[in-house]
Amino acid sequence: MEKEDNFGDWYLDIVEKANLSDKRYPVKGMNVWTPYGWKAMSNIDGFIRKELDATGHDEVCFPLMIPETEFKKEKEHIKGFDSEVYWVTHAGLNELDVKLVLRPTSETAMYPMFALWVRSHHDLPLKVYQIVNTFRYETKQTRAFMRVREIHFFESHTCHVSEEDAQRQIAEDVDILSKIARSLCLPYFLSVRTDWDKFPGAYYTIGIDTVMPNGRTLQIGSIHQYRTNFSEPYEITYEDENGEHKHVHQTTYGMSERLLGAVIGMHSDDKGLIMPPDIAPFQTVVIPIVSKDNRQQVTEAARALAAELSVCGIRTKLDDRDARPGSKYYDWEIKGVPLRLEIGGRDIENGVVTFARRDTGEKGTISLKSVAPGAELLLSMISASLREKAEMSHMSKMEEIDSPDRISEGKILKFGWCGCEECGHKFEDTYGLKILGTPYLPERYEGRCMICGKDADRTVLAARTM
Ligand code: ZN
Repeated sequence: MEKEDNFGDWYLDIVEKANLSDKRYPVKGMNVWTPYGWKAMSNIDGFIRKELDATGHDEVCFPLMIPETEFKKEKEHIKGFDSEVYWVTHAGLNELDVKLVLRPTSETAMYPMFALWVRSHHDLPLKVYQIVNTFRYETKQTRAFMRVREIHFFESHTCHVSEEDAQRQIAEDVDILSKIARSLCLPYFLSVRTDWDKFPGAYYTIGIDTVMPNGRTLQIGSIHQYRTNFSEPYEITYEDENGEHKHVHQTTYGMSERLLGAVIGMHSDDKGLIMPPDIAPFQTVVIPIVSKDNRQQVTEAARALAAELSVCGIRTKLDDRDARPGSKYYDWEIKGVPLRLEIGGRDIENGVVTFARRDTGEKGTISLKSVAPGAELLLSMISASLREKAEMSHMSKMEEIDSPDRISEGKILKFGWCGCEECGHKFEDTYGLKILGTPYLPERYEGRCMICGKDADRTVLAARTM
């Protein structure tokens, strides 16, 4: 299956061959995380935890089920999620008085508790996050990691004394994102979603999108400014220094297993996955190249090599299965291990180990005396080159246009927009592209709306989405 020709089928083929997830579970859109897929996702979660902990967030874990009475308190929120939530109506044989919803996201689970937790300005800011499964009844075609019904999900929720303080939180979220994306070697762009496309209940939403090699964008997360839209119905108030009671300002930040989907789509090739070293379950695989008369010596050297690399903090797999080296290479290429190390009789004589990079195929040797620093250097070179390649691909897909005649396939288009909803819908309906929003960092623009021709002071981004 070729990545260039048919990205969708290629992607599913790679996920299956690398055994990242098993979709044979008998509920559509609810896939089983295999050990290899779960290791990769746990490494991504590890980066999220590290960055959130370092910025003063506390990890929590809220119940999965939310009573209908709480779920329905914010009117826009319930309208937005009505058609995609799962309901629990019975407990044993008894019909429940109050139905329970499986969380599609946790605002309505957390906020009744925030109302109890927040008392005074001393309790603010409140910054918590959780990494849990959420449930949404997707009606579009499901696709592993990209569109599923049980979603491995990260969400942070914060409460602040003022809108300015909440804005500072959003700036911090953007900064956290840049660090996480760096580890994933994943370029992205931010846009403020249109009013008709923002998160239900939000004051505004920043969409985090990346672009896949087929030119379609994939939303990998979002950041929301709620102002007091939720704190009013949930009565989350605090007493300020003057003894006045005020509603808190809130933000949220969410990302999901789509991050893994994006990594797979971005970096892999026709031979299989290419795992960015920071999240690779195994960063190196050690393969002994034995012959009849040196089997024991080479196997022992390979074992010692793998142990040394592990001690130095490099996630290493020793593949000492009784199989031909060629078939081992093939297996680990599919799984995307960034660095392969081979050790045979001649390598031992020369005091070296032979390496092969998964990304470029480049081969060479590292001295056995400094094998761990040598491997670390190669891993950081692989990260840098994956980052650069992805960045180039990303840049090549951004295009600024001033006329619909210049709309080309597989690009993220930027053009003048008057800001009116009617023009937005007209564009989406006519050309089958989605309006993603206005660029998050404000840009000066003086020109015309590409749709109606009126004066425009802003640009808008549009693309086909995955
Ligand atoms: Zn217009």
